Formats: sequence, structure tokens, C-alpha cells
Amino acid sequence: MNTKNQVKRTEIATLGEFGLIETIKAKFDKLINPTSIIGIGDDAAVIQAKENEQILLAADMMVEGIHFDLAYTPLKHLGYKAAIINFSDIAAMNGVPTQITVSIAISNRFSVEAIDELYEGIKAACSLYQVDLVGGDTTSSVSGLIISISVLGFVKPEWVVKRSGAKVGDYVCVTGDLGAAYMGLQVLEREKLGFIADPTIQPNLEEKDYLIQRLLKPEARLDIIHQWKEQNFIPSAMIDISDGLASEIKHICAASNVGVQIVYENIPLDPSTQNTSLEFNINPSVCALNGGEDYELLFTTSAENYLKVKNNPDITLIGHIIEKEKGCNLLTENGLNIPLYAQGWNHFEK
Ligand code: ADP
Ligand code: MG
Repeated sequence: MNTKNQVKRTEIATLGEFGLIETIKAKFDKLINPTSIIGIGDDAAVIQAKENEQILLAADMMVEGIHFDLAYTPLKHLGYKAAIINFSDIAAMNGVPTQITVSIAISNRFSVEAIDELYEGIKAACSLYQVDLVGGDTTSSVSGLIISISVLGFVKPEWVVKRSGAKVGDYVCVTGDLGAAYMGLQVLEREKLGFIADPTIQPNLEEKDYLIQRLLKPEARLDIIHQWKEQNFIPSAMIDISDGLASEIKHICAASNVGVQIVYENIPLDPSTQNTSLEFNINPSVCALNGGEDYELLFTTSAENYLKVKNNPDITLIGHIIEKEKGCNLLTENGLNIPLYAQGWNHFEK
């Protein structure tokens, strides 16, 4: 028998809920933000209010079987991602995240070591983004894992960017590239099915690193938010791309009471996203428009202000805002201008 692969397993019952919280507390004992006054250990965290700044508060919940599959999601990555998607919501308001609380529901399927892995991922994200974990809640669940994170951030009132600020004539831009996380998911789903069919085969993940990394270890674009502060640039409207470009731009249009013209050929796709989508017989446009979980920023800006960010290689102009009556449209690579659908316009492509 090969005992090498046997990982140590401590039942949560041996520590109890309070013992488990103690191990979490030990991991996050050093608070880094001056606004973090009291963290884990009391009935509530204490946060220092800031003069002339407003507080941003957001929450995101991830449920096993709905938002993640532990067959191919290491717990450390899951913790990292759960934190990142919250940081991204604060970035999308043009703010900076500073504190999170983490609430988990766990069954006895999970060991102390497994929960430790989860919090190692959260800690890695918190260290990188300079965010403090200041509290949470722990409870049991019948089978699956649920992780719910709340995030708090700060922003100057005049810097807040809402979904509702887009004006006719504004440019529409995105950061980074789109669709890679969606293709990463397709790759991992394929390998999972292959593994179920034949557990002896090794996964074939050659040249898929970028796609898988985009799915399992996304980043929040706070680098962009910080750059903009220096450039004195404030978008007119913004949202983060968690559900796919088509659906997010429609949120901006609905909130701003405007329409949009997107040019498909301008949407930034990584070559590996393009190649892998063809390999999977998926139209690359589906990745770009309907693939989610990229956590890039989608924003609008006046043509004049656009000049401030124009030279950033990480920002791509993909369209412009038009009158609401003209609708939300996509100029396809064939020169057809079609209505933008939030769910797959690929059925137009017969
Ligand atoms: P209460 O009964 O007041 O809810 P708890 O015993 O649940 O207190 O929590 C004690 C402390 O530990 C609190 O500061 C709480 O925020 C923190 N805490 C509890 N569970 C977690 C968790 N899963 N992650 C981080 N902090 C936690
Ligand atoms: Mg509690």
C-alpha cells in the first residue's frame, strides 16, 4: 500500500467550532490596514471611519455544486477566488478593499486540514491586496461547502463610479482579455469527464495553463484602479465582468438609460482562448460575450477623458454608447449589425 499520498486528516469535531476559529484567528493575527482596529475575537470587528471617504460594502456567496466543483478546484484556489471576486466588486465602484469577513458552512466531509487550505488561499489573496480578515461565522451544513464573504472598502465620494453614468457618445472599454476563464472551465470539465471514464489517464492540459489559471486563480483589477488615481482618470460608468460582457454591458445600458454599439473584432481575446474555443467547436464570440468569471473591468468614458488611458496596453476600446432607442448592438466579423443577446448569439450563426 502506498501511504505516501495519505494526507493527514483531523476531524473538525476534535477541535470543535471554537478550536477551529482559534486556528483561523492565529492565521490572521496581524492586521495590516490602519482602519482595522479590532479583528477576530470579539462580537464585532471595529473599523476606523475615514474623513472624507465613503464606505463600500459588498457580499458574494459561493455554493458547492453551483459555483464550484471540488473535483478540480483545489481548496486553496477556492479561498483565493472567493476573496478576489469580492475585491473585484469594490474595484468596480472605483474603491479600494480593506476588510473582509468570511462565513463558512461545512459538513464533516471537511477536515481541519481542508479548512486550513481554504484559509491559506484567502490569506494569499488578502496579503497580495492588503486586505484584513476581521471576522466571520462558522456553522455546519448537511453535505456541501458554502463560503460567504463580505467586503468593506473606502472611496472618496467624488470618485464613486456607478453603473448609471454612461452618456451617449461615451467610449466603451474593457481591461485585460475576455473569455479565458470560460475556456478554462471547458478544459477542466472535459478532463473530469475523461477521468470518470478512465481514472488511469493523465489529464491533458498542455498549453492550457493560462486558461486554467484565469478560472482558478483570477485577479481583481486594483492595479488599474490605482493607476487611474495617479492619472486623475474617473470612468463615467463601470461594472466588473463576472457574468460575461453581453450581460454586463446591458446592466450599464439599463442603469444609464442608453444603448450601445459593440464591435466584435475589437473584443480582446487571448490567442489560447481563440485556439481552444475552435478546438472545442465553440464560436470564440461565445467566450467573449457570454463566458463569465473574467473579473475584468468594463467601463465607459467620454472621448476626451479616454485620452488619459488610451496608451495603456491593458485597456481596449470595444465600442461606444448610443441612444437607448437604437438598442444594444453587436457588429459581427461578417459586417452584420445584430442585437446583442445576453445569452449566446451563436444561434444566429447557422
Ligand atoms: P458570535 O457567537 O458572536 O457569532 P463566534 O464564536 O461565531 O461569535 O465568533 C467569534 C469570533 O470569531 C468573531 O470575531 C467572529 O467574527 C470570528 N469568526 C467566527 N467564525 C469565523 C470564520 N469562519 N472566519 C473568520 N472569523 C470567524
Ligand atoms: Mg458566530
